[in-house]
Amino acid sequence: MATPDVRVRGPFITGTGYRMNVLSGEQILALDRKHLWHPYASLDPQAPLYPVTSAHGCEIVLNDGRRLVDGMASWWSAIHGYNHPDLNRAVTEQIGKMAHVMFGGLTHEPAVRLAETLVSITPAGLERVFLADSGSVSVEVAIKMALQYQLSRGNPTKTRLLSLRHAYHGDTLGAMSVCDPVTGMHHLFRSLLPEQLFVEAPSTGFHQEWDERCLNALKDTFYRHHNEIAAFIVEPIVQGAGGMRFYHPEYLRAARALCDEYNVLLIADEIATGFGRTGRMFASQHAGISPDIMCVGKALTGGYMTLAATLCNNKVASGICDGEAGLFMHGPTFMGNPLACAVANASINLLQTTKWQHDVQSIERQLTSELAPLRDLSSVKDVRVLGAIGVVELREPVDMKKVVPQLVELGVWLRPFGRLLYTMPPYVIRAEQLIRITSAMRALCEKHCA
Ligand code: PLP
Repeated sequence: MATPDVRVRGPFITGTGYRMNVLSGEQILALDRKHLWHPYASLDPQAPLYPVTSAHGCEIVLNDGRRLVDGMASWWSAIHGYNHPDLNRAVTEQIGKMAHVMFGGLTHEPAVRLAETLVSITPAGLERVFLADSGSVSVEVAIKMALQYQLSRGNPTKTRLLSLRHAYHGDTLGAMSVCDPVTGMHHLFRSLLPEQLFVEAPSTGFHQEWDERCLNALKDTFYRHHNEIAAFIVEPIVQGAGGMRFYHPEYLRAARALCDEYNVLLIADEIATGFGRTGRMFASQHAGISPDIMCVGKALTGGYMTLAATLCNNKVASGICDGEAGLFMHGPTFMGNPLACAVANASINLLQTTKWQHDVQSIERQLTSELAPLRDLSSVKDVRVLGAIGVVELREPVDMKKVVPQLVELGVWLRPFGRLLYTMPPYVIRAEQLIRITSAMRALCEKHCA
């Protein structure tokens, strides 16, 4: 094998000018079908798949030149749209300094700035930041924090997590164990998954009148099982991938009080809801509560690259470090990646210096006025809108193989699942782009009418 021609000059390394040849759309598809897995996919060669060449603002450009209005913000992360000059600049400036350096024993400006900013914008009391590689890993970290905390505080029986039915917290094993047991396919991994406790999801919707009975199952579970429970993990206000359900803030306030009463930690998984998606910077702020541990990810880097963080309060941090182990036992290779931290700083700075609340409110108003009339269609069971989230729940599940190409034909990128057709667009989407998305959603619902 030829050794690459890399010469060292002083502190600089000159590369070989290596360039790859450009692949055609057909070549990309053929190689993809031959070698790659996609998320939650079989090896079905008929599954719809589209090569993308670039993305700008709220548009995704396909290899054949078609431009799709993006209603997904790349799984809810690209809140400022694609190819944003400020975010591009943050990455290119940082890459000229260092793309990565290990975080054990070393630190750097992008990481400390990010930690300081996260502490200042998250609910009061969250003071300590653990940088993780992805949302699921940050949930693993949160679970480990809770277990180490209870152990070091002399509560060895508190080893289980309490979670909600319809929850989704990620795909790694610990995170999966707190996902809905049915839709999370626990039966496939039973031999490895810890058995957690589940309670029915809150029944009072975000916009409904609060009904105290909504708390009965939760109160009963705390009363009967508190000696076993290390932490209660929730997606605040919006249960996302487990059903796109919006619940009442009063439920969160009551959960906070129950956790305090029974010495159970409260973990808020804000991976989907964080950074403005529900109309507040963090969904916990709808209830005015502060969790003991909070996970953020997805929009943290404005969708540029993978990064997440687990924040905790001083009670949890010192509880862990004063205990028997004295250390928190986690430390990924790419922890605190400077490129990811630099773009996260730029993304949060954009939120702090632009009118995102106004943008999210406009999206909410438009989604409400354009989606609410779909309730009259026989194929539609419910329509829900909160912040920059619009959900149409159908009566029957959609056939992805048919529906995705129909949506692409209509010039939009949406990825429905089960009976849920939904949009979480970038906050910078223009009204005339959003109407293309809501019109496509209407067209699909009309096709589904008997
Ligand atoms: N938690 C919530 C609430 C999520 O919505 C997700 C992803 O959709 C995750 C955790 C997992 O994050 P990631 O896909 O970055 O591992």
